[in-house]
Amino acid sequence: MAKVLCVLYDDPVDGYPTTYARDDIPVITRYPGGQTAPTPEAVDFTPGQLLGSVSGALGLRDWLEANGHTLVVTSDKDGENSVFERELPDADIVISQPFWPAYLTAERIAKARNLKLVVTAGIGSDHTDLDAAVAHGLTVAEVTFSNSISVAEHVVMMILSLVRNYLPSHQWVLDGGWNIADCVARSYDLEGMHVGTVAAGRIGLAVLRRLAPFDVVLHYTDRHRLPEEVERGLNLTWHASAQDMVPHCDVVTVNAPLHPETEGLFDDKLISTMKRGTYLINTARAKIADRDAVDRALRSGQLAGYAGDVWFPQPAPADHPWRTMPHHGMTPHISGSSLSAQARYAAGTREILECFLAGRPVREEYLIVDKGALAGTGAHSYSVNK
Ligand code: NDP
Repeated sequence: MAKVLCVLYDDPVDGYPTTYARDDIPVITRYPGGQTAPTPEAVDFTPGQLLGSVSGALGLRDWLEANGHTLVVTSDKDGENSVFERELPDADIVISQPFWPAYLTAERIAKARNLKLVVTAGIGSDHTDLDAAVAHGLTVAEVTFSNSISVAEHVVMMILSLVRNYLPSHQWVLDGGWNIADCVARSYDLEGMHVGTVAAGRIGLAVLRRLAPFDVVLHYTDRHRLPEEVERGLNLTWHASAQDMVPHCDVVTVNAPLHPETEGLFDDKLISTMKRGTYLINTARAKIADRDAVDRALRSGQLAGYAGDVWFPQPAPADHPWRTMPHHGMTPHISGSSLSAQARYAAGTREILECFLAGRPVREEYLIVDKGALAGTGAHSYSVNK
């Protein structure tokens, strides 16, 4: 029997919801490109309910406990005296979400003598030290594609909200004002602007597809080029590197994984090559942008706006400069954790557990590390220090 240690974000401050804004969510069975949505044998939750917080327990409790496994769910994840640290040494499986990541450092992996499987309920396993996971023969899996479209929608929302100056204008309404000139003095149309994505994988391509109807000029950089018919259909300009692409753009969106090649990419030097007044949207991982360089660029006017939902560390401390820098549209890490996304990644987590506990192979597209090496999606998206 397995001990499953699951780290989830806290319930809402007013308590776990008893009612919801909507009665149902659309049923998505396939993703763009044809991959099927998760196919667990069953789920014990109602899609559209809050699953990602402690009481939601990713809908796993009844099933795991009925099968004799132990499920420990906690939000207390950081520091030596945290519940996570105390429960880790005899855990067989660790699950957490990138929104509230259980940082599985090399030291923690060394302490977790029973650990065999690490699941990211969502996408992005950089909170796990993948070198250490490889060295310890762990399996690391994530629910590939479960929230890619959720993030793409968030990116489009943030681009429009920055370019059109939505949040400050809304604030004038909340404050009882009607200050049109104050609102529009920083408000532009997106139409005609050059928009570029760093990486055109699942999220980046979905962003490009969603932006095309806005009559913008689309650019991308990626290690592999998209098929020619996709480039032609969206009228895309490919650039060999982010360095080549960003000087052409009015808006840049970052949709690459965090790994040694992308860490610190948007530093003072790269930002200085962008057009004055570029908008930068980063929903990928915070460390792809240099925290203080972004702050400086917003204050100098080199960037006209910065938005995203990814921070380091998470949760971000109260004095994190991205909370107070000018012209930002940050949210907490929520883009991939809509109720719609939760239903998919909770089902995907269940599918991964069903397979792993029964000794069946986990879907190739969910694998990041397996059998002592990067595997599946991980072999494509990540790099480790050999
Ligand atoms: P994909 O693996 O589908 O796409 C990632 C793309 O990035 C690939 O095409 C890859 O290229 C490309 N890439 C990797 N390194 C570089 C580089 N140095 N320069 C240019 N391109 C590069 O991932 P997703 O689109 O699903 O997700 C992207 C990232 O978004 C995740 O890794 C995660 O960090 C983040 N994310 C954030 C969420 C949120 O809630 N905010 C939720 C989900 C994901 P190649 O084809 O050559 O491998």
